[in-house]
Amino acid sequence: MCSGSDYEARFADFADERLFAYCCYCGDRRATKRTTLDHVPSRSLLDEPLPGHFPMVRVCIDCNRDQSEAETYFYAILSAVLSGSHRPEDQILPIGERVLRSDKSLRRRIFEAKNIAPDGSLIWNVDHELIGQVLTAYARGHIFLETGELALDKPARVVFKPLATMGQDERTAFLEVQNDVFPELGSRLFITLFDPQDERRQLLDANGFFVIQPNTYQYKVVLRNGQIGIRSIVRNFLATEVSW
Ligand SMILES: [Zn+2]
Repeated sequence: MCSGSDYEARFADFADERLFAYCCYCGDRRATKRTTLDHVPSRSLLDEPLPGHFPMVRVCIDCNRDQSEAETYFYAILSAVLSGSHRPEDQILPIGERVLRSDKSLRRRIFEAKNIAPDGSLIWNVDHELIGQVLTAYARGHIFLETGELALDKPARVVFKPLATMGQDERTAFLEVQNDVFPELGSRLFITLFDPQDERRQLLDANGFFVIQPNTYQYKVVLRNGQIGIRSIVRNFLATEVSW
């Protein structure tokens, strides 16, 4: 398993090395800040034991902390939707049980998000802003690690929906999207795609998604129409896209 501190070095790339001097969330120079290693996505979304090849990026402690409220909400709502319940004891995700048990106001919030449709099915009113914030941070981390680019602007597009609600054509388009340009020569993504010896190739599925852990998290870098974006599938349930 990758120890973490050496992730960036281990999967060496030849993209502009100066970029690795920056925090991918705020763009500040790491040397001027207290920093920490951040998993992309959060390790709480995956199952134990954690896989090797778990992307990690060094970021400001402050940036890391700023995300924690949105992330806690994301764990809770995702777990509640997957479990069909707001009750801690019903949660499928251990992190969902933990945060719903310990945070009373969050538990109330998730309870109030739950509605019953006339046909008896559950409808969840989710906070798009907070979930978008989490997905944007993950996308910034992936883009930085894969291409060396900082995606600091507000994204042009942040969308997410359950994979199961997609029609066949939409699902195919989501999964099989083709890039219309190559990643930058020498970037970590370029090396994985074009070097047959690259050990990360074992993570790629037939559609070019990096499968970090089967059924829990996979992502793909999409380079298309002059945009760069990340598509992901979380817990085999939520299809997401964030692009710039
Ligand atoms: Zn920062």
